[in-house]
Amino acid sequence: MTNTKKVAVVAIGGNSLIKDKQHQSVEDQYEAAKETTYHIADMIEAGWDVAIGHGNGPQVGFILRRSEIANKAEGMHEVPLDVCGADSQGAIGYALQQTLQNWLFQRKINKNVATVITQVLVDREDPAFKNPTKPIGSFMDEAEAKRRERDMNWSVVEDAGRGWRRVVASPQPKEVVELDTVKALINAGVIVITVGGGGIPVIDAGNGDYAGVAAVIDKDFASSLLARQINADLFLISTAVEKVALNYGKPDEKWLDRLTLAEAKQYLAEGKHFAKGSMAPKIQAIIWYLENGGKQALITNPENIGRALKGETGTWIVNE
Ligand code: ADP
Ligand code: MG
Repeated sequence: MTNTKKVAVVAIGGNSLIKDKQHQSVEDQYEAAKETTYHIADMIEAGWDVAIGHGNGPQVGFILRRSEIANKAEGMHEVPLDVCGADSQGAIGYALQQTLQNWLFQRKINKNVATVITQVLVDREDPAFKNPTKPIGSFMDEAEAKRRERDMNWSVVEDAGRGWRRVVASPQPKEVVELDTVKALINAGVIVITVGGGGIPVIDAGNGDYAGVAAVIDKDFASSLLARQINADLFLISTAVEKVALNYGKPDEKWLDRLTLAEAKQYLAEGKHFAKGSMAPKIQAIIWYLENGGKQALITNPENIGRALKGETGTWIVNE
């Protein structure tokens, strides 16, 4: 990389778009995005160049639901899952891109912001495809579930009394397809929004072509891959907590300021500290980053990004 500035990958969590169940509209999401990009603008003002990754779980859920309702009511064609991912990257990217650009204009920082619709290659032989576990879309009755299983090749499971649901695989990200584009933009000083929702999962169709697959990639894993592939100076995971805790939610909970890579691995292996599906994948994503040449990683919430970068809060995980 020829960029002489320090580059950070910032993975932003669901709380940067949806604050609570009462604030889920597009306008509410825009306001939430605007709050988070204010803090990212602080970072940029302090001299960082940034590649932003983000989640999209609820947003893909909304797109799918609209698609299902329109299909049932009017016979409108449905939107495939990979395309829902692309749609969400566009809409979320738009909110982040516009709000961040506005903050930069206001601060007279002459930088451009761009969203890259990003595909992430997964291995078609990934064991996750043999055991899909990630529930997607609305509940169905058994007849519909069985019909879709037969006609559309869906995997469906019954969810204890609540009905049937589609499940998809969550494979490991192998390569960011648009990596060279992202690097070129960063080298040109552009702030990039990429790997949204973990990226649109694609496989090698066998003849070298890419083909979208119905799967979901963990956004922290995809952001970690990006941070490794661009040799980021910092991997920052912005989420709903200021710090990471040991024995989270238990009477002997202990908030952490600093962890070494070895300590992070040990605590993750102990299994009881970091909840599966929320904090555990973040710690794993950071471990992979640090094991592959990364120097430092940080977990905090959007409002504390500035203070954390000055060393005043957040949980730092360092390679030493
Ligand atoms: P995101 O959308 O940012 O990925 P998640 O809900 O998946 O958010 O993960 C962040 C959440 O993980 C926190 O809000 C917190 O409730 C939970 N969590 C689980 N274990 C821990 C821990 N050990 N320390 C801090 N937070 C934890
Ligand atoms: Mg999460």
